[in-house]
Amino acid sequence: MSLKVTVLGSGTSHGVPAIGCDCAVCRSSDPRDRRTRPSILIEVQPGSNLSPLNEPAASPPIAAAADSPISAAARSILVDTSTDLRYQALTNNIRRVDTILFTHAHADHIFGLDDVRRFNAIQRTPIGCYGGAETLDSLRRMFAYMFSPTAQIGGGIPQLLLFQIAGPFSMGGVDIVPVPLLHGRLPVLGFRLGPFAYLTDCNRIPDESWPLLNGVHTVILDALRHRPHSTHFTVNEALDVVARLGAKRAYFTHICHDLPHAQTCRELPAGVELAYDGLVVEIA
Ligand SMILES: [Zn+2]
Ligand SMILES: [Zn+2]
Ligand SMILES: [Zn+2]
Repeated sequence: MSLKVTVLGSGTSHGVPAIGCDCAVCRSSDPRDRRTRPSILIEVQPGSNLSPLNEPAASPPIAAAADSPISAAARSILVDTSTDLRYQALTNNIRRVDTILFTHAHADHIFGLDDVRRFNAIQRTPIGCYGGAETLDSLRRMFAYMFSPTAQIGGGIPQLLLFQIAGPFSMGGVDIVPVPLLHGRLPVLGFRLGPFAYLTDCNRIPDESWPLLNGVHTVILDALRHRPHSTHFTVNEALDVVARLGAKRAYFTHICHDLPHAQTCRELPAGVELAYDGLVVEIA
């Protein structure tokens, strides 16, 4: 199998620079210190044959996903629709989104959803959106104009199909394993595809989720800052996760303005670095 993962946004909810902040990172001229809101794009390279899962979780697959007409073309997978989606799509020349996976429904992860209209227009198909039950409920409530439209829709509304994730599922030969995480008290989802995992917005990996991560060698992981936080891993906590995973490569994301890119990377152990907007990670 082969995946191309592009970090579209590596910043925390405020983005970096933060509005009205004059700190060294917010004033930095290093482009890697400019962080938009968190999101990644996973492109499954043509001819990929994602290897079967080691141990599929016991929970049942979502029935609708396997039979969906959109499933066969799931080659360009967007994880979350960040506040900065339009800018990220233009910057990274994203021309196609087949599927959207949602980690949770916090504003920084969903408020770009309206921009998906452009992909509907280009592709002329609805786009499948996958998330946990609570996330989908929040989307329906927060974007009522999309899911309970009135007669006048002006410039149009995104054409979306919502699928509730109840366990691992496959699309177009790609196995997607949802990984339950805790973001403070809020349950959120990370995602595993083959040897790669994206684990953002979390400060704890529950015991039952560790087996789902067996064999992961490349991870993009939440690490907000050094100071403790009630809903995000610190750098040291994230390093503990990397060690326990045995991951060969780790990239930290959801980074706030406490962490200057170059200096922080110099302090991290081999194989671990801060992600940055535009970073491409190839997974062979
Ligand atoms: Zn977030
Ligand atoms: Zn700042
Ligand atoms: Zn969050």
